[in-house]
Amino acid sequence: MDFGQAAPNPFRLCSGLRVLGYLMILMVAAIIAVTYYAVVIVVWSPRLLHGGLSSAALALAVLVPFHLLLVLLIWSYFMVVFRDPGTVPVNWRPTFDVESLEITSSDSVAHESRLSSESSSGLERRLNIGYCNFCQNNKPPRCHHCSVCQRCVLKMDHHCVWVVNCVGARNYKFFLLFLLYTFLETILDTLALLPHFITFFGDAKNHSSSAQNLAVTFIAFVLNLAFSLSLLCFVVMHSSLVLSNTTTIEVYEKKKAVTWKYDIGRRKNFEQVFGTKKIFWFLPLFSEKDLENIPALGGLEFPMRSDVEA
Ligand SMILES: [Zn+2]
Ligand SMILES: [Zn+2]
Repeated sequence: MDFGQAAPNPFRLCSGLRVLGYLMILMVAAIIAVTYYAVVIVVWSPRLLHGGLSSAALALAVLVPFHLLLVLLIWSYFMVVFRDPGTVPVNWRPTFDVESLEITSSDSVAHESRLSSESSSGLERRLNIGYCNFCQNNKPPRCHHCSVCQRCVLKMDHHCVWVVNCVGARNYKFFLLFLLYTFLETILDTLALLPHFITFFGDAKNHSSSAQNLAVTFIAFVLNLAFSLSLLCFVVMHSSLVLSNTTTIEVYEKKKAVTWKYDIGRRKNFEQVFGTKKIFWFLPLFSEKDLENIPALGGLEFPMRSDVEA
């Protein structure tokens, strides 16, 4: 028996989840394909092309927002899948508030000695700096190690299997837009497929759909109804989290706090995720100016309540 073998590392299983996760992209594509076939090909295109004027107008009222939401949700989806949520630069050290810590940039020796002497006496704790034993690197405030990605993620919210990526400081907005547009799309699909079923069950003898089309529209209807109901919970939950400047991971920590240190007012909390340019709020994009002026979008520094009140 070989006792020299290393013990199995449970975190390797987590990285396996990431590989498995790529199947989720195929599943998302399959759900979109089934819904597209049911809503566009089976139910509404025939009404647009062969129905009367009012039927064609109604079909346009469904098909135009359907395609608009589809473009926005796919765009947001690819942005959240492929955008890095934010990683800690190697040997990252915090930048200090010069006045409050009485450290001058020219006095680099004093700076280093002060950091090392104070690190054990609470300076790092005061600045919310941790250390990751897996990455062997400092952890900025709100940063957490993800055992699936096997790295530290800035302002980590959660690891999402649907997007095969961590949701963090730099892609949280894209995740929220994906959530919102998918929710609106599934509501629209459910409403758009509902009359088809009422007609079918109300007049079963004279229906024109084939059994195959009926099966596809039924599956699409059930899927969209189920997703719209479950996404409603997520939309409500994340709206509350954005407005209170809390990540999913921090919910427990916030419950224990009398006042939440990162909550600097609803408008500013919102802007820390969506930026200040209204034109970009509903698009998975940021303006260059916002990326420069809002440190929270970079994921390394966050204004605190005490800074704002001071
Ligand atoms: Zn780490
Ligand atoms: Zn992750």
